[in-house]
Amino acid sequence: MTSEIIVKAVDVSKRFGNFLALDKVNVEVKRGEVSCIIGPSGSGKSTFLRCINLLERMDGGAIWVSDELVGYRRDGNKLHEISDSEIARQRRRIGMVFQRFNLFPHMTALQNIMEGPVQVMGETTKAAREHAEMLLDRVGLGDKKNHYPSELSGGQQQRVAIARAMGMRPELILFDEPTSALDPELVSEVLDVMHDLASSGMTMIVVTHEMGFARNVANTVTFMEAGKVVETGLASKVLSTPKNARTAAFIQAVQ
Ligand code: ADP
Ligand code: MG
Repeated sequence: MTSEIIVKAVDVSKRFGNFLALDKVNVEVKRGEVSCIIGPSGSGKSTFLRCINLLERMDGGAIWVSDELVGYRRDGNKLHEISDSEIARQRRRIGMVFQRFNLFPHMTALQNIMEGPVQVMGETTKAAREHAEMLLDRVGLGDKKNHYPSELSGGQQQRVAIARAMGMRPELILFDEPTSALDPELVSEVLDVMHDLASSGMTMIVVTHEMGFARNVANTVTFMEAGKVVETGLASKVLSTPKNARTAAFIQAVQ
């Protein structure tokens, strides 16, 4: 693992009306790292991920992904919002896997994965199909490629969603509670796929309550509360000897 920084968030703030959802959030993620974000519901975890891939506009601070400012262009001392096509280009570099699987219901597993590469990235159907088949094999669903989402379990749908994110060859994948909507017996098959992805060197930011995954797979853990980063550091340190009493209480409660 190199120490190249892929994501750098500096003093990121986000308001919804008068409500401060993110209050000067600072996070750094290095290439190949798995960075877990934990914290109670409403602490701003999803909002932070959504700012990284421009589903939300931050109100203050800045985020860089691979040394490129997210959402803005600098012109001397001035910042200008970038165009929609520039936003689309920046977003393409970043995969996202949501709590709900968000597959296209009228497309098979294979078509779901091929859609972005063909329509957005201009890959040939043949190349996209080969890559999609390889990815489906990799997530253990080679035999389900012609199934529609409604014919798949929640765990299988989420594995297709991960393969779909990988189909775009992203520099980084954001996961927003990818196992929270699953029946308990389906959680481990999705975590196993994420573990495999991490082992292959993919840079991942994972919002999760799965402390076993955080302990086994994450390099760093960030604990958020009320829009603020309360504690961040090496996973082994934060999870086993948290410095902050609220981090400790949260970790204890979700074990
Ligand atoms: P988490 O993912 O940690 O549960 P969120 O980022 O979803 O938290 O939300 C943080 C806070 O921001 C919550 O209080 C939530 O109600 C509020 N919030 C999120 N999105 C919106 C929105 N679009 N409009 C108003 N408030 C929002
Ligand atoms: Mg959330």
